[in-house]
Amino acid sequence: MRINFNVPPSTGKELEYIKQCIDAEKICGDGSFTKKCNKWFEERMKATKCLLTTSCTHATEMAAMLCDIKEGDEVIMPSYTFVSTADAFVLRGAKAVFVDIRPDTMNIDEKKIEEAITEKTRAIVPVHYAGVACEMDTILDIAKRHGLFVIEDAAQGVLASYKGQALGTIGDFGCYSFHETKNYSMGEGGALLIKDAKYIERAEIIREKGTDRSKYYRGQVDKYTWQDAGSSYLPSDMNAAYLYAQLEIADEINNRRLAIWDRYYSELKELEAAGRIELPVIPEGCVHNAHMFYIKTADISERTALKAFMEERGILTVFHYIPLHSAPAGKKYGRFSGEDVYTTRESERLLRLPLYYKLTDEDQSSVIDALKEFYGNR
Ligand SMILES: *Cc1c(COP(=O)(O)O)cnc(C)c1O
Repeated sequence: MRINFNVPPSTGKELEYIKQCIDAEKICGDGSFTKKCNKWFEERMKATKCLLTTSCTHATEMAAMLCDIKEGDEVIMPSYTFVSTADAFVLRGAKAVFVDIRPDTMNIDEKKIEEAITEKTRAIVPVHYAGVACEMDTILDIAKRHGLFVIEDAAQGVLASYKGQALGTIGDFGCYSFHETKNYSMGEGGALLIKDAKYIERAEIIREKGTDRSKYYRGQVDKYTWQDAGSSYLPSDMNAAYLYAQLEIADEINNRRLAIWDRYYSELKELEAAGRIELPVIPEGCVHNAHMFYIKTADISERTALKAFMEERGILTVFHYIPLHSAPAGKKYGRFSGEDVYTTRESERLLRLPLYYKLTDEDQSSVIDALKEFYGNR
């Protein structure tokens, strides 16, 4: 038996849609599937503008450019996140200022943000870990009082919400990921969500190598020229075709993931009640998207033993992240504000269980049984 940690989503329609691109002889960026995806997100998320990108990393780079992040600026973020959150700003010469996380959600501790602000601070980057929202009201209030941008790393937050608002649409910019490990995928890909329409024109230019080609395609100018510094952040329409097949059944995918999540939660509740493990916390007002299911073990040695125990049974589990402030580049490009009370400690206890659209009930039973066996024998 072998149970993978992740299997990328697919619906059966992908090849047909990719073939449509090939038959239409339109495979580069901003073809009909890209437009359909952008429109789907704008309508579903009530976003002013959505631009499909080549990754969430690239969407975040675009946001950093749109905020005019420069050498010497500081950007506040958690240390417990994927490298891209920091990379996008560090590439523009900024310093990453890491703030501790809350142990309940693993999200940035909104109460520790204000003390990290200096005269160099330009932006706050909340990361909605596991598709569970950060405390956005507090974060928006701090940003407003200090004149800072808010860029949501909503890589894991597609179809999740905070007080009724879709994650990615709450701050100035929101960044989604459609990497194969995410809820909806196009292999590699992402999207930038823009709240204020005044940024749309420049975003389109940055995404199209610094040209106004988007305007040209719409017939708004009769030739396109180099307008600004930019890069190539638009994905092939074939990748968008793959993604669109999943968007058509997004609720079905979301419901299946939620059902798997709920079953893990209810079946593992007794282990939590017995004080053996901790389960994820979903605060009031947050609707999550079952991006992941994790448990917390007593400590790192128990986690190592559990991971090996599961692996012996053919079940792959995963942990992450090595906190950025303890990584070589994190030491070079960042600093930790205040004390690391929870970031390292909680990251060492966390173990992610298999959770994907196509996970079968039988396989999930095997995962649950193995966990119960491990704790039953200790
Ligand atoms: C996956 C992920 C990213 C990066 O997404 P890509 O599309 O691979 O660039 C960034 N931040 C977080 C929190 C992620 O989980």
